[in-house]
Amino acid sequence: MSKKLVLASNNAKKATEMQTLLAPLGLEIIPQAQLGVGEAEEPHFTFIENALAKARHAAAATGLPAIADDSGLCVAALDGAPGVHSARFAGEPKSDERNNDFLLEKLAATPAAERGAWYYCCLVLVRHADDPCPLVTDGEWHGFILPARRGSGGFGYDPLFWLPELEQSAGELDATHKNTLSHRGVAMRRLIERLQSQPL
Ligand code: IMP
Repeated sequence: MSKKLVLASNNAKKATEMQTLLAPLGLEIIPQAQLGVGEAEEPHFTFIENALAKARHAAAATGLPAIADDSGLCVAALDGAPGVHSARFAGEPKSDERNNDFLLEKLAATPAAERGAWYYCCLVLVRHADDPCPLVTDGEWHGFILPARRGSGGFGYDPLFWLPELEQSAGELDATHKNTLSHRGVAMRRLIERLQSQPL
């Protein structure tokens, strides 16, 4: 029987991307909601601390190894905001639509050349809640913020995230293409490499 790994995310679209990326490991990936685990608090100022909090929360609640991602969009002209606040940039309740509108508003006076941004993803895998040696990897994906949405794929800020080398937004990429390039894809391939020398 394959080993179980709890996926500490209640964001359905993000969880789907992570499940696809984790497929090569041949583990049984169980979204935490399926085990009755609710969202962890994310009170910290850095992605790594929040990812660790989420992974520990899921491992403590289930007694199983757990993997968490904490990710977000950092905009150079906004000193790295929304950063760890990406999911709730426009306040509660969290909404991708309102977050995108809010970002467009904030950058209304910023010229195209100064709209550089990057997605960041930190992944943390803990074998148990008190694991003193969590596996930690990260990834970045660089682009620019468009003046208006393009495409309806992906989630979050993808329709506004412009990739000049492809002349497409992240929202115009299919899921496989996004996974080969994205911050989450980069971080996940690094994690899979680590797991080859340090199996679960
Ligand atoms: P988290 O679930 O607390 O890590 O929040 C992540 C937030 O960052 C999401 O709700 C999105 O707003 C944003 N984000 C992270 N990764 C992506 C991505 O791949 N595409 C678009 N937005 C993303």
